[in-house]
Amino acid sequence: MSQTHVLVLNSGSSSVKYQLLDMRDSSRLAVGLVERIGEQTSRIKHTALTTGCTREQNGPVADHQAALKAVAEELARDGLGLDSPELAAIGHRVVHGGMFFSEPTVIDDAVLTEIERLIPVAPLHNAANLTGIRTAMALRPDLPHVAVFDTAFHTTMPEHAARYAIDTKIADRHRVRRYGFHGTSHAYVSRETAKLLGKAPDEVNVIVLHLGNGASASAVRGGRCVDTSMGLTPLEGLVMGTRSGDLDPAVIFHLERVGGMSMDEIDTLLNKRSGLFGLCGDNDMREIQRRIDEGDAQARLAFDIYIHRLKKYIGAYYAVLGRVDAIVFTAGVGENAAPVREAAVMGLEELGLAVDGDLNGVHGDEPRLISPADARVAVAVVPTDEELEIATQTYALVGKGNGTYSTALA
Ligand code: ADP
Repeated sequence: MSQTHVLVLNSGSSSVKYQLLDMRDSSRLAVGLVERIGEQTSRIKHTALTTGCTREQNGPVADHQAALKAVAEELARDGLGLDSPELAAIGHRVVHGGMFFSEPTVIDDAVLTEIERLIPVAPLHNAANLTGIRTAMALRPDLPHVAVFDTAFHTTMPEHAARYAIDTKIADRHRVRRYGFHGTSHAYVSRETAKLLGKAPDEVNVIVLHLGNGASASAVRGGRCVDTSMGLTPLEGLVMGTRSGDLDPAVIFHLERVGGMSMDEIDTLLNKRSGLFGLCGDNDMREIQRRIDEGDAQARLAFDIYIHRLKKYIGAYYAVLGRVDAIVFTAGVGENAAPVREAAVMGLEELGLAVDGDLNGVHGDEPRLISPADARVAVAVVPTDEELEIATQTYALVGKGNGTYSTALA
């Protein structure tokens, strides 16, 4: 039997999301998640797309080991267990790959050590990713496990975009530089945008706006990332659901010295109590739009600050790229919030940017153009699919199930 299935695992600090794909046609066989791991109120939700059947279980799931065992059991109930001869590999999302990992990589001891060494720059994410990987490897040690890094797509950034203007020795000693995140999404969406334009990725320059709860922009020249808005951590750049994005670093000194806040409190403030949530008490764009429609001034201001920052990045990346073929919106806000897309390009006609009101108002799951037919620069909506991208990269690396793969560290 041919090995054509890939299991994609996204292990967070308190959740595991998974999808099983058949790479013959990139179809989903099963999707699910285990959430609130370590609490009494854990929940497992599993959907077998082969039968359309969804099962839900509530009750404590102690740790990642128990979570992955539960995932394996759920898959087995649909005849898709981890021992299936059709399973070619497991693809793991890993948030931080540092400067080292520019490609998907088959995981061995050396790779595990390197991911562990990166924990100080992504404490929450990499530690959780690592736990998920180790647990899955213990369950299927014979199978190739592939790490697909959120940072990988951004390793092509030139030094002048990747470095902060601080003392080089200190920066190098502590690995302080701009790494960027959401790379799997930026890679997938920029490629799909080229397809939508009927061109090869190396022929087009694209500004990708990944606007989810976390949000980032990237400038992609000929299929390679040349700049992105997130930095050492996913805190830099755009205004996000709960993160501040760009701010004067002196705000931190000020809050510590004058505001009497501890570093941990400031960390929590900027990561969890800022952005749209900090500005108006809501981080869901649907709710913010509803409040704006009711005349809520605080929600309006939060929206305007969000759009102002977005516009600044569009302008900056226009200048970085010199020539722009397309601007593309993706992720929860980018794919669904027509008013955000409209406001982001409003007034940029001189740059060749405009949206067609009717096209922008149409909802859909397919990649689509929303700019007027005669527009100089295409404006597009392309739904992201990070799981498919992880599965595709994993499957490509393991030699389509024939076992010929190599590790980056070998
Ligand atoms: P993440 O993966 O970063 O958690 P998503 O890409 O799933 O985030 O985006 C989630 C966000 O998308 C929600 O917080 C909400 O702001 C926004 N969103 C989802 N659906 C809609 C919609 N129909 N209209 C406006 N915003 C939406």
